Amino acid sequence: MSKHEEMKKIKDEIVALSSSPLYSYRSENNYFPVIGEGSHDAKIMFIGEAPGLNEAKTGRPFCGRAGKVLDDLLLSIGIPRSDVYITNIVKDRPPENRDPFPDEIKIYAPFLERQIEIIKPKVIATLGRYSMKYIMEKFDLADLLGTIGTLHGKPLEKEVIWGKLTILPLYHPAVAVYNSNMLTALKEDFKKLKEFV
Ligand code: URA
Repeated sequence: MSKHEEMKKIKDEIVALSSSPLYSYRSENNYFPVIGEGSHDAKIMFIGEAPGLNEAKTGRPFCGRAGKVLDDLLLSIGIPRSDVYITNIVKDRPPENRDPFPDEIKIYAPFLERQIEIIKPKVIATLGRYSMKYIMEKFDLADLLGTIGTLHGKPLEKEVIWGKLTILPLYHPAVAVYNSNMLTALKEDFKKLKEFV
């Protein structure tokens, strides 16, 4: 199966995922699941938390205010959005943008894991603490877990079956919408991504 076909299969399975606790909320509101967007050969994969309202209405990740911050950050390092792959752990919008529940992470995580295996990125840049925790645990780095305030911008390396993987924990772009200190920190951390393209 080609990468495109594998990704399409993931999409079809998520669309039909009536066992998800977020499925009825999606259907009642005519929302879309947000599978992910970008190059299937991306060297850099961004993983956020869960879709917000704009994302659920369009089916595209990071297309609202946090997405604008992400776009500006990519622009600041000269990497086109179409060169990277952007997705979330949870593929459906939680009501009122609340934090995802553990059972929601559990049901969607296997899809994220398949996406990682399809893309085989050189770098996984986690956006926010949920994504950081999930990815560090998945790649056996749980003993290094700490607050995002101490871990952001510090690359972690891991040998995986497709080579060397760097995990770069980043603040969630939403925190920078109204906080210029956070935006400065994100800009600094983003510079570390340049060496991977
Ligand atoms: N926040 C996220 O974590 N993901 C999105 O796609 C949008 C906002």
